Amino acid sequence: MTLVGKETIVYAVERLVKDLDPEFTDIIDKALSGKDISEKDSVRLFEARNFEVNILAMVADYLRWKTVGDIVTFVINRNINFTNECMINCAFCAYSKPLGHPEAYTLKINEIVKRALEAWKLGATEVCIQGAINPKLNPEFYLDILRSIKKVLPEIHIHAFSPQEIHYFATKMDVSYREALKMLKEAGLDSMPGTAAEILDDEVRKVICPNKINVKTWIKIIKTAHELSIPTTSTMMYGHVDTSEHKAKHLNIIREIQKETHGFTEFVPLSFIHYKTRLYASGLARPGATGLEDLKVHAVSRIFLNNYIKNIQVSWVKLGPKYAQAILNAGANDFGGTLMEENISRAAGATSGTHLPVERIINIIRDAGRIPAQRTTIYEIVKIY
Ligand code: SF4
Repeated sequence: MTLVGKETIVYAVERLVKDLDPEFTDIIDKALSGKDISEKDSVRLFEARNFEVNILAMVADYLRWKTVGDIVTFVINRNINFTNECMINCAFCAYSKPLGHPEAYTLKINEIVKRALEAWKLGATEVCIQGAINPKLNPEFYLDILRSIKKVLPEIHIHAFSPQEIHYFATKMDVSYREALKMLKEAGLDSMPGTAAEILDDEVRKVICPNKINVKTWIKIIKTAHELSIPTTSTMMYGHVDTSEHKAKHLNIIREIQKETHGFTEFVPLSFIHYKTRLYASGLARPGATGLEDLKVHAVSRIFLNNYIKNIQVSWVKLGPKYAQAILNAGANDFGGTLMEENISRAAGATSGTHLPVERIINIIRDAGRIPAQRTTIYEIVKIY
C-alpha cells in the first residue's frame, strides 16, 4: 500500500470515529444487515452531511452491487408526447400550453405511428407515449393510438399513459379505472409510466399541481394496473417545495404498494428542472435540488427500496449525462432510455439534449467500470456489451 493509500484510510477511519452520529451508524448497520430502514430512518439519511454523504453513497453502491451486480442497463426507446394542450395547469410544468394557445399542438395518429416506425427501424424496443390532458381529445383517440401502433408494429412494447391520463380516459369513457385499464390493455397497452406521482403528499400537491389527481387516486390507479398485470415504473419529482419528510413518506408509499403488488419495475428519482416554471417564478419553490441532494436521493432510494425494487434509474435528462454517470456510484443501476426526443424537461430549461445515442451510453457505463446491457422495458436483458 502506498503512503497516500495509508493516509487516505487513516483519514477515513478518523472521520468515521470522530464525526459519525450513532443514530446515523445504527441506520446504516440496519441497512447493511439487509433489514428495512423505516420512514423516520430515511429522513435522517436525507439529512446526511459531510462525511456521512460519502458513507451513504458507499452503502448504496454496496447494496446495488449485492442485489444486481455490476450490470448497468438501458433501453432503446422513443418518447412521443402527442399533445401539449392541457387543462390541468401544474405549476411546475413548462411543457404544457393553455387551451387554445397558439403553440399548442396535437399529433395526428398517422404521425404517432410514423414516429414509432422510425424508432423501430433504429432498434427501439419501446415507445413511451404520454401527453397533456387535452379536453378536445376524444377517449377513442387513446385506443386508436394503441391499436394503430400495434397494427403495424405488433412486437413493439407500448409504455404509455400516466395515472393522470388513465383518470381522464376513464372519466370521459364513464367507466371504472379497472374497466378503462382493461380496454387499454386489450388495445395494446403493455406497461405504464408511474408518472404524475410528483410527491405523494396532498399538501405538496396543492401547491405544485392542485388540479391533478390526489394521492389516493394515484395509488388506486397504480394498484389496479398491477392487479391487471400491467407493470408500471415508479417515480418521484423532488427539489421544489418538498422536505426530507415528504420524500421519506413518498418512498414509504411506493414500498408499501410494491410489497402488495410487486408491479413496479423500477424507481426513478426525477430532479425538478426549475428554470422556466411558474412554480419557481412565483417564489414558492427552491431552484431545484443541489448536486448533493441529487446524490442523497438516489442513495437513500436504493437503501430504502432495495429489498423490494431492484432497479434504481438515474435520469440523464434531469442530471446531465456526466452527473448521471457519477450517480452510478451511489445506488443506481439503470441509465434509462435513449429517448430520441425529449420535450418536457427541455421546455422547463434542461440542457442535456433530447437524445443519447447507444454508443455514448455504453461509453459512459464502461468508463464507470461497469457492464453495459440493453434491456427491454420490463428488464429482460437483450444484449450485454
Ligand atoms: S404535468 Fe401534465 S397534467 Fe400537469 S400541466 Fe403538464 S402536461 Fe398538464
